Amino acid sequence: MVQCVIIGNGAAGAYAAQQIRLHAADAKIIILSREPYTLYARPRLHEIIAGTATPDSIIIHTPEWYKSNNIDFRAKTDVLSIDTETKTIVVNTNDRIPYDKLLIATGSVPFRIPLSGSADDMIYSIKTIDDAVRLQERAENSHTAVLSAGDYLDLKRQMHYWHTNLQ
Ligand SMILES: Cc1cc2nc3c(=O)[nH]c(=O)nc-3n(C[C@H](O)[C@H](O)[C@H](O)COP(=O)(O)OP(=O)(O)OC[C@H]3O[C@@H](n4cnc5c(N)ncnc54)[C@H](O)[C@@H]3O)c2cc1C
Repeated sequence: MVQCVIIGNGAAGAYAAQQIRLHAADAKIIILSREPYTLYARPRLHEIIAGTATPDSIIIHTPEWYKSNNIDFRAKTDVLSIDTETKTIVVNTNDRIPYDKLLIATGSVPFRIPLSGSADDMIYSIKTIDDAVRLQERAENSHTAVLSAGDYLDLKRQMHYWHTNLQ
């Protein structure tokens, strides 16, 4: 049986797993994910910041989806290194996971503008559910914020709308 390992459980990783299952009914598929959540809708993270959605409500694939597709989903599993000679992956639980086929679908991380003079816990970026929950809690109890956001997020306008006490 071919063992396919996918690193990353974002849209790329999860939908690749679905396609592999469609084309290889017998394959063993393992998804390794640093995050604690099953696949969720990143484009809906702003709803958590607004307080109009909860982490549960933006989940796309429940744990049952992985089970019914016979996908071994391992959350909170951080890949530390890949040995391509022995085709083995080392993860943070000290497990060594062998693979026949490997897909690296680790996405990207937001660029953090290097700012001096501000405590790191005052600066937020939004990539994950945990980021959105932290920012939502902070926005509730804050009076001023400075935003640096991509055009399509238009966070500045939206945060004014959601958190009317926020300048
Ligand atoms: C707030 C926000 C709003 C967005 N809105 C839109 C939109 O409206 N329309 C649109 O088209 N796109 C939008 N995007 C972009 C879209 O979400 C990304 O293009 C998409 O998430 C990329 O998917 P991906 O699977 O390649 O990577 P990611 O979603 O980044 O997933 C990669 C996963 O791999 C995990 N990972 C990384 N390294 C490791 C490791 N070493 N071990 C284990 N796991 C690891 C990460 O934790 C992550 O969970 C938005 C993104 C954000 C953050």
